[in-house]
Amino acid sequence: MKNYGMLIDVDKCTGCYNCFLSCRDEHYGNDFPPISSAQPFKDHFWMQIIERERGKYPKVKVSFIPKPCMHCDDPPCARPSVNGAVYKRPDGIVIIDPEKSVGQKEIVSACPHRVIFWNEAKNIPQKCTLCAHLLDQGWIEPRCVEACPTGALSFGDLDDPKSEFAKLWNSGQALAPELELKPRVKYLAIPKRFVAGAVLLKDRDECAENAKVTLTGRKKKQTVKANNFGDFEFEGLGEGEAFAVKVEYPGYAPQTFEVQTKTDVYLGEILLKRAAGKKK
Ligand code: SF4
Ligand code: SF4
Repeated sequence: MKNYGMLIDVDKCTGCYNCFLSCRDEHYGNDFPPISSAQPFKDHFWMQIIERERGKYPKVKVSFIPKPCMHCDDPPCARPSVNGAVYKRPDGIVIIDPEKSVGQKEIVSACPHRVIFWNEAKNIPQKCTLCAHLLDQGWIEPRCVEACPTGALSFGDLDDPKSEFAKLWNSGQALAPELELKPRVKYLAIPKRFVAGAVLLKDRDECAENAKVTLTGRKKKQTVKANNFGDFEFEGLGEGEAFAVKVEYPGYAPQTFEVQTKTDVYLGEILLKRAAGKKK
């Protein structure tokens, strides 16, 4: 018996929508009893692509976060369901039975991830099945994983300790860890906060390539060098944390900034002045 999981590497997702389209191609108009009923033409996104924009002009970053059903080990969608309409298979996949779930609209709002869609014409809730109908025929991965051109989606057996997938799985994170639902879909490189800026040498009107920038917080200290445009960046910082950012360049007076990562922080252009007594 397999024990399935999906891993999504946000850094590799370019937002091409191939996963969404392959899901539609597989499920629109196709019934796979007893696992799923056909996806309707409109308003169903069994694989959603969440676009997350961070920072503000001129430092803006965009990430794409593919989001199917998380196939929780403790699925809240099963709690209001009756008659065994929502069940977890021994291989970890959560299924909404298309016959038993007729009329059970409360299943839709029970999912905190908002990945269940109501089919008005059929009077049933529907969602991602991890393409269980294909896996049961011997496929090694669902359609969306197969279609991803960048390798952002991967899929495998968590009980195969030798597989690269199972090893990588342990470094994955839940999209919403605070819910404590033990999801079977985990993520790498979930976007966090960043602190960035650009360092310039005021008297020379030049970018301060190789300026030393040190970020110090309660739990971490990190140093980077500015690139040839004078730009620097610290990524993957926690939300709402306080940091000191110190900028240094030989012969110039250092500057220190106190920042708070309630939002992403762009310090703008930092103009370093010659240190007192230092000549050009
Ligand atoms: S993500 Fe939502 S729909 Fe999927 S198993 Fe968890 S609660 Fe159910
Ligand atoms: S696993 Fe299958 S059902 Fe789920 S999003 Fe991917 S293609 Fe759609």
